Amino acid sequence: MTDDNKERDRNGNIRDWLDYGPATRAIRAGQHRSEYGEHSESIVVTSSFVFESAAQAAARFSGEEEGYIYARFSNPTVDTFTERLAALEGGESCIGTSSGMAAYTLLCLGVLGVGDHVVLSRNMFGTTLILFKNILSRFGIEYTFVDLIDLDSWQSALQSNTRLVLFETPANPLTEVGDVAAISVLVKSFNQDILVGVDNCFCTPALQTPLTMGADLVVHSATKYLDGQGRAVGGAVVGTNELVEGKLLPIMRGAGLSMSPFNAWIFLKGLETLQLRMDKISSNALAIAKHLDSLAGESKVGIEKVFYPGLPSHPQYELSASQQSASGGVISFTLSGGREAAWKLMDAARLVSITANLGDTKTTITHPATTTHGRLSEEERDASGISEGLIRLAVGLEDPEDIIDDIQLG
Ligand SMILES: *Cc1c(COP(=O)(O)O)cnc(C)c1O
Repeated sequence: MTDDNKERDRNGNIRDWLDYGPATRAIRAGQHRSEYGEHSESIVVTSSFVFESAAQAAARFSGEEEGYIYARFSNPTVDTFTERLAALEGGESCIGTSSGMAAYTLLCLGVLGVGDHVVLSRNMFGTTLILFKNILSRFGIEYTFVDLIDLDSWQSALQSNTRLVLFETPANPLTEVGDVAAISVLVKSFNQDILVGVDNCFCTPALQTPLTMGADLVVHSATKYLDGQGRAVGGAVVGTNELVEGKLLPIMRGAGLSMSPFNAWIFLKGLETLQLRMDKISSNALAIAKHLDSLAGESKVGIEKVFYPGLPSHPQYELSASQQSASGGVISFTLSGGREAAWKLMDAARLVSITANLGDTKTTITHPATTTHGRLSEEERDASGISEGLIRLAVGLEDPEDIIDDIQLG
């Protein structure tokens, strides 16, 4: 939560964080010092806050006076994280949540009601699809899944009761790249009031800022690259004050989806090194993707196809180069030997960790068909291109040569 993104400079002039460069914002935005004057951000671990008088308590509760009340509502450490992330995404305001899925839940509870319709890319994180299919559908929220890269399918899915559209780019796990500007224009020309939301988990604001391309809001799983070291689960929504403070904050307070101060501290420290990590992860991933791609089609190796936006063979290579500053850490590839070959490769790895997570310093490997996308029906997996031979590699910060050595092919 943040009331504004204003900060006073040396001369006492109010400066917007956006007047500073992104590296400065990542390190300085949102810092609040306590009376001790600590240089590194401290963690404020308290469930409630003390009032000086009964009258002050009443004023805080009525909203007459600004200030902290209870950690489910807001907390200084969480505020430092959310102000920092808002400043990086170029948004007015941000709310931190207990997970990435809590961020989606918050968003949906805040902007949707019975009979409303959502259009979302079918090329999304498995649990996001499950949220709409199995949970929100029980509360009268309708949805249509569309193909991320097919603009006609977006156009024909829009309805008079559509309130929200959502997509990830690059998408999980096949790294399809959605055209943020084109989808935003298409949606807004159908109905100005439909909110366009982008899950910026794979790129983070270090590589791409959807709000500058026409999107209204950004959703994050902070669990991934914002943390960057695989320690904590959290999420965030970034957008206008009207959306975040007006519509989402009351829901967060009431529904209790709040981020813990300890996790906020992990994430706000993660943001300080985000650009360095994302640039290095991207160059490592590009080296590994090029290596795998050079072997594709050789029958004894068994790689059918490599999916990585930084490869010229990627169908949206040019689009990704125009909206991202680098290609990120996620590579997928298919093996001709199906599930058996995929599991064999994973089990043979000594360094790379078999885990469903991504966005860690440690490189991770996943078999989406039986894990992250295992709860989708076979038809849904087919429609999303999640084949049995598909492997997702989320490249970390080790020496890329060692990762290449660890992936035993053939
Ligand atoms: C992990 C992930 C989520 C869900 O986030 P959690 O923090 O696990 O709840 C949503 N979207 C994407 C793209 C993800 O990778």
